[in-house]
Amino acid sequence: MRLIWVGHRRGATPSRSHATWELTLTPTQIRTLFSRFEAADPSPKTELSYTSPYTLVVAVALSAQATDVSVNKATARLFALADTPEAMVALGLEQVTDQIRTIGLFRNKAKNVIALSQILLDRHGGEVPLEREALQALPGVGRKTASVVLNELGVEAAVAVDTHVFRVAHRLGLSKGKTPDAVEKQLKAVIPKPWLQRAHHWLILHGRYVCVARNPKCDICPMADLCPSRAKPPPARPKTRA
Ligand code: SF4
Repeated sequence: MRLIWVGHRRGATPSRSHATWELTLTPTQIRTLFSRFEAADPSPKTELSYTSPYTLVVAVALSAQATDVSVNKATARLFALADTPEAMVALGLEQVTDQIRTIGLFRNKAKNVIALSQILLDRHGGEVPLEREALQALPGVGRKTASVVLNELGVEAAVAVDTHVFRVAHRLGLSKGKTPDAVEKQLKAVIPKPWLQRAHHWLILHGRYVCVARNPKCDICPMADLCPSRAKPPPARPKTRA
């Protein structure tokens, strides 16, 4: 039986009168899903390299429309020269641009790195403010970047919805949201609290390595028996007489 959940309240009980979206899995199945993620990877982490809140913010801001691998290569060069706001501003726009030119949108991103570093110096004593509004006021830091940073640093159990999280949430039937914000709201409503902070990483990693965009690897997916989108095995070929 399908349950219809009120999506905007965490812990909401199933209701047929206040439907905002139809959840394909039952609460028990959702608990099974996340307990499997936990068993496979109890402490998931970002694949971005960082050594401080500052280098994390810069790395996440650089990762828009770029792979973590390509960002890590660029930040290995960049952070070797400057890993604090002071050092970054002193390094200057030309050098920062040069160090990150292998990733997409590098010119704009370099400007943002210098500008956000200057703001950290001017308004925050050179420290990264661990508060959403102040983070999102930094150049190049939107809601998704702030969510990743706050989640990674254990400040807020945020679910940043990137392309992987969006796809996996839909395939697993955890959300039918049409925008990242809608998916984020629905995920926050249905994922049990103990797993919420780590859910972001699990869904990203699942989308990156198993539930890939084209040809998801349903045959090796540990969630296949729960997943409403799993690929059906090809029908058995009828026996033919020799
Ligand atoms: S069964 Fe297939 S579609 Fe479903 S989550 Fe796993 S890989 Fe994705």
